[in-house]
Amino acid sequence: MKNNLTSQNVVSFIKDIFERRGAEEYLGERVTIAEHMLQAATLAEKEGCNETIIVAALLHDIGHFTSEFGSFSMNDEVDKLHEDAGAKILERFFPKQVVDCVKFHVSAKRYLCAKDPDYFSKLSDASIHSLKLQGGSMSKEETTQFEKNPNLDPIIKVRYFDDAGKEEGMKTLGFDYFIPMIERVVENHANSINP
Ligand code: FE
Repeated sequence: MKNNLTSQNVVSFIKDIFERRGAEEYLGERVTIAEHMLQAATLAEKEGCNETIIVAALLHDIGHFTSEFGSFSMNDEVDKLHEDAGAKILERFFPKQVVDCVKFHVSAKRYLCAKDPDYFSKLSDASIHSLKLQGGSMSKEETTQFEKNPNLDPIIKVRYFDDAGKEEGMKTLGFDYFIPMIERVVENHANSINP
């Protein structure tokens, strides 16, 4: 983990990762990881979500870039916990709502599989494959526990953008469009900790 990161340079750090590694494949989907993240953020923007949600949608898979285990493939037999890696990177600079959306985007899939019978049928093949590695649908106890998270609504929203952001050739906004937004979210968070 890089520890010379500050709220001043974290956005250019993320931009750099995005530019160097964004062209990598995304979990066996037909879009690259950068396309996927930009699609999720663009969909959030189009739906008029607030900046926190848009930024969370943009960064939800940032953990794929930092996992020391390398990128996911359809042959993986264990889950790589990219959501925890992503949350760890972000928690120093981003509000809890963004961190929770990242940290629990996989749990949200397991939650929705348990709560919404239609949801599973809409998942992509790669997402169904990873669901098995991630523990399958939540049990009743797990869903009850999950619903206690005060950020449940944004977590679920971001999950839907995640699932929808896998369209080959979808036109999206560019990463640069989102930079001022990320900067505002980071700055507001820094000010809220250290007014
Ligand atoms: Fe994703």
